[in-house]
Amino acid sequence: MSDTFQALVVEKTEDGTSAAVRDLTLADLPEAEVTVAVEYSTVNYKDGLCIGPGGGLVRNYPHVPGIDFAGTVEASDDDRYAPGDKVVLTGWRVGEAHWGGYSQKARVRADWLVPLPEGLTTREAMAVGTAGLTAMLAVQALEDHGLKPGPKLVTGAAGGVGSVAVALLSAMGHEVAAVTGRPEQSDYLTGLGATRIVPRADLAETVKRPLESETWGGCVDAVGGAMLARLLGQMEYGASVAAVGLAGGSHLPATVIPFLLRGVNLLGIDSVLQPYENRVRAWARLADLLPRDKLEEIIVPATLSDLPKLGEDILQGQVRGRVVVDMN
Ligand code: NDP
Repeated sequence: MSDTFQALVVEKTEDGTSAAVRDLTLADLPEAEVTVAVEYSTVNYKDGLCIGPGGGLVRNYPHVPGIDFAGTVEASDDDRYAPGDKVVLTGWRVGEAHWGGYSQKARVRADWLVPLPEGLTTREAMAVGTAGLTAMLAVQALEDHGLKPGPKLVTGAAGGVGSVAVALLSAMGHEVAAVTGRPEQSDYLTGLGATRIVPRADLAETVKRPLESETWGGCVDAVGGAMLARLLGQMEYGASVAAVGLAGGSHLPATVIPFLLRGVNLLGIDSVLQPYENRVRAWARLADLLPRDKLEEIIVPATLSDLPKLGEDILQGQVRGRVVVDMN
């Protein structure tokens, strides 16, 4: 039996970086407690950055990207995991500061793993991935701060976070308005449960009036920037916005008026440093809530060699739903 396996390795070049599938051995992997045979990984926005020149996230080359993966434990020096256990990894700067999931074997710290939630396969877990876990954390934050009656808005809806947020909110019985810049994805979004499509252009203008009609009873925002600033003024009294992403920019050209006159809450969502208990709780709810047929619709299948192109696509906002990379 060969002891080599395949991984996507990013190397530094004179004018940037280049990514290619290479053979590695176990001796190439970093030191850590648990070795996992990776079955599936995914493509998140951060992966796009790390497959390319890095956006400042990767410090050392050669590098193996992949910020999340699911697979089976092969060897473990930690009592919590034994060979044969199915596990999931998200966060902890894996795939950025540490070698990640674009490899048929990965070696990681036991603290970073959670057991595969009951009822999900490793493939389904990666259809959810970091983006879906973050969507769940955002929905939970909205619940904790009081969802209001109006329709729930999801921005960047055809992307990874957005797709799962639409499916989750709809499965929970909410009316969901999906903001997209890709009208051709309208059928996909209504298939996931959106009851209304809002063209991105409707929210693209910067804030002219700090308060507009009270329209949305809660929002999962994957876009940030001018769109987040604008929609703050459209929230119902006391409603909350979970700020998840910056696909449209990190600058927030807003006024504080919606906070002061309407008691709007802006909730920050981080998936990277979530404590173990929170990750387990969110995964259990995802396994419970997400309709499997909708999860299947979200999946775009891929293999290791597709990753350089997919990395570019996600940075251009051109990936729909969730790419699931088959590492087997
Ligand atoms: P995707 O690329 O899959 O989705 C982003 C979506 O945003 C696109 O599909 C597009 O949706 C929309 N979009 C893209 N560019 C623009 C733009 N210029 N203006 C307005 N809308 C735009 O990425 P993910 O879903 O994986 O991630 C979304 C964001 O969330 C990223 O910024 C990512 O870094 C962040 N994130 C944060 C996490 C956290 O822990 N806080 C964890 C995971 C992700 P459409 O075509 O429908 O308009």
